[in-house]
Amino acid sequence: MNKTLLGNTEISVSRAGFGVLALGQNHKDLSLEEGAELLFYGFMRGINFFDTAQYYDEYPLMRAFIDKVLSSGHEREELVICSKSLASDREEMVAAIDEALCKMGLEYLDVFLMHEVRSGQLQMRSGAFEALKEAKASGKVRAIGLSTHHSDVASEAASMEDIDCVFALLNIEGLGIRTGEEGGPGESLPGYGVSDRAGTREEMEAALAACHEAGKGVLTMKALGGGNLAASYVDAMNYVFTRPFTNTVMVGMSSAKEVDDLLDLLDGRMDSCYVPDIGGKALRVNHDDCVGCGECIKACVSGAIDYGSDGLAEIDQELCIDCGYCAYACPVRAIIRV
Ligand code: SF4
Ligand code: SF4
Repeated sequence: MNKTLLGNTEISVSRAGFGVLALGQNHKDLSLEEGAELLFYGFMRGINFFDTAQYYDEYPLMRAFIDKVLSSGHEREELVICSKSLASDREEMVAAIDEALCKMGLEYLDVFLMHEVRSGQLQMRSGAFEALKEAKASGKVRAIGLSTHHSDVASEAASMEDIDCVFALLNIEGLGIRTGEEGGPGESLPGYGVSDRAGTREEMEAALAACHEAGKGVLTMKALGGGNLAASYVDAMNYVFTRPFTNTVMVGMSSAKEVDDLLDLLDGRMDSCYVPDIGGKALRVNHDDCVGCGECIKACVSGAIDYGSDGLAEIDQELCIDCGYCAYACPVRAIIRV
């Protein structure tokens, strides 16, 4: 698979990356052996860039995968491992980086990011970013940056000298893109606290092009809008893979068939009418457990959750992009995949 340098770093990354979220307990829930085997299959097919996160709770799976790679005669340098943390201050980020290193059995991380930075949060989380800079200076992390669904955050990152890479949401319909900038379509989200509206694909494209121009590595996620664009699989995937500013498109995959589909698409062997079977399972609120606290509503960047007439949370599947933030935020684990 083609590789490019991740912005101004010396990290060579495959055009497609493997999003590990889809393998974990809130998604496919594969065993360690099954998950490691699938990631290894992706690696053997040419993917070298693997993305996880502190909250995905998948470091044991990543460790099993990395051990498998090393025990089969490959070198650590053949892998690019990315993780990220929702840490809001320096102390939390220091602990998050050490946790990732320890639990994955690594001496260094290739990429570590501030996870899910929303409009107005860059200042609030400056302590966490300082910890990332220190980790890079000490050799614990090779490249640092942020992940976001917000085009204004990506735009701001373009002018931040210490940001090496930006991992942003982008898809052909602009599903899930948000912005803190005024004007344009969309309403502020209830309970969100920061002025924020639905953004557009064009706004995110402009922000990521500016990141690329500034020498940042650019990664994108949610090519299929959490499954909502699966019916337009080929168009949706071709769109993200032909953006000239993108180094790597991270694709969440949970079967060898999905890896094969992706490789077929990249090799131009896929029928333009192809529609994958993505299984049909979705995150839903179990009303037997929901206590109506609203934490999921605040966590949902896409405005996909609101209270129903019974005072309990409901997910609008047409707006949901399957990011999993709500399930993580729910104190009683009422948000489950069924
Ligand atoms: S409902 Fe949950 S999974 Fe869907 S977009 Fe909102 S936070 Fe993400
Ligand atoms: S966070 Fe959980 S308990 Fe609270 S409203 Fe949402 S689903 Fe219900």
